[in-house]
Amino acid sequence: MKVDWLIVGAGFTGAVLAERIASQLNKTVLVVDQRNHIGGNAYDYYDENGVLIHEYGPHIFHTNAKHVWQYLSQFTDWYHYYHQVLGVVDGKQVPIPFNINSLYALFPKDYADKLANQLVEQYGFNVKVPILKIRETAQGNDLKFLADYIYQKVFHHYTLKQWDLTPEELGAAVTARVPINISRDDRYFQDTYQGLPKRGYTMLFKNMLRHKNIRLLLNTDYQDIANDIQCERMIFTGPIDVFFSHMHGELPYRSLRFNFRHTTQDLMQSVGTVNYPNEYEFTRITEFKHLTGQQVAGSTLVEEYPQPHVHGETIPYYPIPKDEYKALYRKYQAEAEKLKEKVIFAGRLADYQYYNMDQAIARALSLFEKEVCA
Ligand code: FAD
Ligand code: UDP
Repeated sequence: MKVDWLIVGAGFTGAVLAERIASQLNKTVLVVDQRNHIGGNAYDYYDENGVLIHEYGPHIFHTNAKHVWQYLSQFTDWYHYYHQVLGVVDGKQVPIPFNINSLYALFPKDYADKLANQLVEQYGFNVKVPILKIRETAQGNDLKFLADYIYQKVFHHYTLKQWDLTPEELGAAVTARVPINISRDDRYFQDTYQGLPKRGYTMLFKNMLRHKNIRLLLNTDYQDIANDIQCERMIFTGPIDVFFSHMHGELPYRSLRFNFRHTTQDLMQSVGTVNYPNEYEFTRITEFKHLTGQQVAGSTLVEEYPQPHVHGETIPYYPIPKDEYKALYRKYQAEAEKLKEKVIFAGRLADYQYYNMDQAIARALSLFEKEVCA
């Protein structure tokens, strides 16, 4: 078969690039995915009880990038939603990111007042401070106690479960994703634009890929068809180390096992996600109906069990943000550079970057302008 562009992966990175190339350049595109569906890790579907669920874990769209929001809004309307998370600390469910409301949920009012005043005095109001920074800089016995308390009860064990590493062993940006919020804002994300595609992610992807220049080939590993496709250029969004047959060794990823369970009760939790930093082997439980606003009898929830990634057996979900792995990734990047006239590498797995959806989309849109159109 002959096409202008071959794109490996029908997740956000691949779908955005396919849509842009087909609609803006009027070139033909073949999108190949090894899975039996489009959408990559954002794929959703109605389970046997009619509940819209996310097969690869809960996905909440949030961004400050107006151009990303506007781009996606061509293909979907939105269910406007602010994600809320509670974490179980000392038997109580308290707001996460940890904020002033969490203090009042955990401590007697007088002591919470004292801690809140000291936090505001030292750091200011309505600011976000990563836990590792608070631990380094907290002044006075009360704030030092608080920093250690939050570290131990919210971050330490959760991070060990999720990554099998301590917060200090990971890049500081990982725990900084969920900073201490010196405010009363209980939202998990504070981005300007937030929501879920009104008719689901899969429908959003269908709308993006519905173009006469785009052909889709599912259930197909790119390696099985590589020799049968003639293309001018290719975009690869799978794991970069797999593309190069692990020639420099395997890049480590973290994987997850999902346990879905259905209940006839209409809602089980008071918010979308409850985190369990200290108890159980799973890290969190998410109840989809909170995220989607779906009105249907019964409810489906998912527990996330982190696990090591084993090539060929589990799914590589998370690149592991650690300096030594970045160094290994750079070796693959150097290999990619040698192929740059023919192949573009992009996406969470090909860039080995812990991208949120909006970052993957922003990267794809910018690649289109800078490298595809150039
Ligand atoms: P992917 O979605 O992984 O797509 C890559 C595709 O390539 C896959 O479909 C794969 O099957 C295919 N592929 C790989 N190799 C081959 C091959 N050899 N041949 C054929 N096909 C191949 N982001 C948010 O913004 N908000 C959230 O709430 C959020 N929650 C998340 C929760 C979890 C549990 C996880 C794991 C991620 C979450 N993310 C979230 C991140 C989000 O999933 C990613 O940003 C996004 O999926 C990146 O898109 P991508 O196209 O780069 O990669
Ligand atoms: N984290 C934590 N406790 C929490 C929430 C988050 O320790 O209650 C840490 C943990 O290391 C996690 C990271 O912060 O991996 C980022 O959390 P986020 O919710 O952004 O993770 P993701 O949704 O990407 O899995």
